[in-house]
Amino acid sequence: MKRRELFSSLASSFTKKEKQEKIIRPPYYKNKEVFLTNCIECNDKKCSTVCEENIILILEDKTPAISFENSGCTYCDECANACEHGVLELENKKNIDVKIEIDMLSCLSWNKTMCFSCKDPCLDEAIDFLAMFRPEINSNCTSCGYCIKYCPADAIKIV
Ligand code: SF4
Ligand code: SF4
Ligand code: SF4
Repeated sequence: MKRRELFSSLASSFTKKEKQEKIIRPPYYKNKEVFLTNCIECNDKKCSTVCEENIILILEDKTPAISFENSGCTYCDECANACEHGVLELENKKNIDVKIEIDMLSCLSWNKTMCFSCKDPCLDEAIDFLAMFRPEINSNCTSCGYCIKYCPADAIKIV
């Protein structure tokens, strides 16, 4: 079992997370406007069907958006390879356009209850625990969103 699969099975027992409200686009676009022009002409929505993490949802306006509710992005390039409408292109690869932060008020650890739930699932070693009780996200973070579902207190926020 891969490390991420193992953590996924452990996380499945967590309570339902709050709904993500911000629209987050897949990380291979040059111009956000093209989602609203080109994607509405796209019938097969291959970006969504090829994503092995199943994180690309198609919104009511027929454009794709990422949901971190069940998993995160591996930056595997498959959505960009699949898009035939010039919206997602490999040459525009970048980190997902959000900042991930730990909310100190909600975080169990910051409130003196020992918890390392987010640390190990982060394969980029982007979460430092200062003095065991003060987790902070460092500059290694790729905004993959993978840690979000592991936090039992919903303390990892998309900014
Ligand atoms: S495959 Fe390309 S054009 Fe179609 S919905 Fe996805 S991003 Fe938009
Ligand atoms: S890069 Fe891969 S994991 Fe990320 S959204 Fe695209 S297909 Fe999904
Ligand atoms: S801290 Fe950043 S790199 Fe690590 S899992 Fe969370 S979003 Fe991904």
